[in-house]
Amino acid sequence: MTVRTRFAPSPTGYLHIGGVRTALFNWLFAKGQGGQFILRIDDTDAQRNVEEALAPILHGLKWVGLDWDEGPEVGGPFGPYYQSQRLEKYHAAVRQLLEAGAAYRDYATTEELQAERDAAQQAGRPFVYSRRWRAETDADARRLEAEGRQGVVRLLIPREGQFVLNDLIRGEVRIDWASEQDHVIQRADGTCLYHLATVVDDHDMQISHVIRAEEHLSNTARQVFMFERLGYPLPQFAHLPYVAEPGSKTKLSKRKLDKYLKNRDFAQLMEHGQSIARRLGLAVSAETFNPVIVDFYEQVGYLPDALLNYLLLLGWSLDDKTEEFSRDEMLKHFSLERVNKAPASFDCEKLVAFQSRAMQKLPSKQRVAKVVPFLQRAKLVTDPPPCDTAPYVTQILDAARDRVKVAGDILDFDDFFVANEDLKFDEATLEKRLRKPAGARDLLVKYRESLAQTESFSAADLEKMTHAFVESNGIKIGDIVHAARVAITGKAVGFGLFDTLAILGRDRCLARIQRALEITA
Ligand code: GLU
Repeated sequence: MTVRTRFAPSPTGYLHIGGVRTALFNWLFAKGQGGQFILRIDDTDAQRNVEEALAPILHGLKWVGLDWDEGPEVGGPFGPYYQSQRLEKYHAAVRQLLEAGAAYRDYATTEELQAERDAAQQAGRPFVYSRRWRAETDADARRLEAEGRQGVVRLLIPREGQFVLNDLIRGEVRIDWASEQDHVIQRADGTCLYHLATVVDDHDMQISHVIRAEEHLSNTARQVFMFERLGYPLPQFAHLPYVAEPGSKTKLSKRKLDKYLKNRDFAQLMEHGQSIARRLGLAVSAETFNPVIVDFYEQVGYLPDALLNYLLLLGWSLDDKTEEFSRDEMLKHFSLERVNKAPASFDCEKLVAFQSRAMQKLPSKQRVAKVVPFLQRAKLVTDPPPCDTAPYVTQILDAARDRVKVAGDILDFDDFFVANEDLKFDEATLEKRLRKPAGARDLLVKYRESLAQTESFSAADLEKMTHAFVESNGIKIGDIVHAARVAITGKAVGFGLFDTLAILGRDRCLARIQRALEITA
């Protein structure tokens, strides 16, 4: 049997980080066994423009590299892959369920149903629909319609016994049929609901394994009921634990951002990304730009493989020690048996650690290729970049090391890319390091002379020269390092001063120090 899995997002306008994890597990499971991964669009309830609301989802999946064998844009033998284009198939299934006595036409009004619900509540018993407005025959249906009623189609769910599912992750799951309702599968206007559509599609598209989020476990009884009554063979089901909130077991949701922002790591992750985005001139409303949404990571310059590696371990492990997996290794080792049952909380610190490690491990050339587009977007280098950009950026990255955790962090080093006359000085630092300390400017004048005269401008020789300078002036190293740093970078912090001097080169250092002295005169 060929393994066929599917990821079935609704067109919501964004790709949720938990959705990527679901897609990843489906992709790994199918691809790891030479099977197919299908992308199906659950747009039975779509209110708005589907293409527009779908675009960020398709884009996000492409960005992380979870390519689909069948679905939007690529087509396939079992299309269309949009539920909104498959209504006829759903209607045929509804007719079949009606004929098999597994569903019925129902003509109760909303008020009548509510009255039954209220009565049940008052009597303190669970609501079970009386089926009073069920049409058993065509004549019944015509009579009820003549009263001006509109019919829906409901499943005739058993009222006794148990539904038993052998879930590949949760094991044996038992649900009392009595706890189920006669779920509606077709509305009065003739449109069909997701539960029916998903069954018809999973069958038509020959899905062998339904791997999806835990919230759908409670939907499985009614779906299996339909599979069986339609005479379809059952796929295997595997319900994944939630990607949970930071520090809790509740499902991570885009709607609870305010709560997550009270978590220090989450707030830091978000602020870090937003500060990069602001420097790129992007709109950064928390609503559309936050760590629950995959686009955030792309815009900020995360590596898709690092994100996937992190998400893989949110719910799966190979053993208790291996943490790093290349894509090939993921494909080789992934199995549903090793998926956890318990939800795993979204751990921002761990995600950043994965990202940072992956960034440092990247071959130099690739790291440069990741950061240059950010410099271009911030208009710090031209597009195409000048031919000496790559060696220059390589020097900066080598000196910055893990200060550049995501590609967008290169913007912290904008001072290496601006013309001397455009360098912006941090006022508070100028004050603290140059204006206020007695003699600081005079010392800087002398240091500038030493820089002008010193023979070699390599970081190692500059370090030796500076130590000699400190000694002969009877000062502490900090007295000159901080003053020199703000003078040549405009900032209070950065990587080592000697690397900074060497990368900028003699002419720029002298000119910048001169300017800082003039500004503070
Ligand atoms: N459209 C559903 C969702 O986004 C998919 C459910 C399923 O995988 O069956 O949650």
